[in-house]
Amino acid sequence: MNVEFSDLSRKYELHQKEYEAAALRVMRSGWYILGKELENFEEKFAEYMGTASCIGVNSGTDALILAFRSLGIGPGDEVIVPAGTYIASVIGITENSAKPVFVDTDDYLSIDVNKIEENITDRTKAVLAVHLYGHTCQMDKIMDLAKRYNLYVVEDCAQSHDALYCGKKTGTFGDLGCFSFYPTKPLGALGDAGALITNNNDLAEKLRMMRNYGSKVKYHNEIKGINSRMDEMQAALLSVGLDHLAEENKMRIMIAERYLAGIKNEAVKLPCIREGSTHVFHLFPILTADRQRFQTYLLEHGIKTQVHYPIPPYAAECYSEWAYQRGDFPQAAYVAGREVSLPVYAGMPDDEVDYVIETVNKF
Ligand SMILES: *Cc1c(COP(=O)(O)O)cnc(C)c1O
Repeated sequence: MNVEFSDLSRKYELHQKEYEAAALRVMRSGWYILGKELENFEEKFAEYMGTASCIGVNSGTDALILAFRSLGIGPGDEVIVPAGTYIASVIGITENSAKPVFVDTDDYLSIDVNKIEENITDRTKAVLAVHLYGHTCQMDKIMDLAKRYNLYVVEDCAQSHDALYCGKKTGTFGDLGCFSFYPTKPLGALGDAGALITNNNDLAEKLRMMRNYGSKVKYHNEIKGINSRMDEMQAALLSVGLDHLAEENKMRIMIAERYLAGIKNEAVKLPCIREGSTHVFHLFPILTADRQRFQTYLLEHGIKTQVHYPIPPYAAECYSEWAYQRGDFPQAAYVAGREVSLPVYAGMPDDEVDYVIETVNKF
């Protein structure tokens, strides 16, 4: 049996008619940028998340870059960021010429909140909480520290759409919540897209200008901006996707629950769910000592897996200026050396899930 790591066409087919109707509506409208589709999606997403505003942008990376820029974070400033994350989290900081200060990973594969305080200096301006894999950070602890040290909190929710921490949605704890709608994400466009959510009206207004050349009124450029707009097509398609987000999250959670109950192999460490947290399982990360052999074995049995992520951002070639060694953050390095993501996506057939469990157990 062949099992793809992810199959977006299966996910598309779940709601094909609605997607095609939305696409046709946009094509026939004669209006493709900054129109009522985007307005409608922004309103719908803000309401869904329970925040005052949503600002649609071009990608999750742009959302992060604009988040720090709108908060006035730049050269000489420091931002606390998990050592174990996807590099785009860090790009949001370095594109503003601010300095990322890395904090090691905890047993739940998110930022170790007990190691944040020792990294706060008088240059620290913000904490970037990354809800990696669809699991949530310990937001109560992070918000506490932020209040005590007067820091901004930005959340990277690129993998955690609709995940809750103590009953509250990720992206609604801090000053700004940043989302990616890259096609594979829990809420995915059919191209690139991203968004920010906030309850701060001043920030929302600034971000709306920043994403559109820095202007509110055409040719009146009040602040330095860029072009980072979510287009009408993606907004219309995302509006369809949002109607099915909860149901598709549930599909992945059910697959993950079957993995958690069915996989029994001492060579495979399953993901743990933090108390008070809902894990939406954007990915299903397991840890195993001999990753190469595990992945090869599964591939020989037709099962495709991926690694998220083999090189932690602090050890990335592009950031060699800081001369970090892999071992500087032992937990993040440990995870980077052992992580393998098993297939989990909305529309994944039941017999394929059973086959993955069976095959992993025979490893
Ligand atoms: C996908 C992702 C991003 C970047 O989003 P893009 O839309 O691809 O730019 C940022 N952070 C994390 C954790 C991601 O997974």
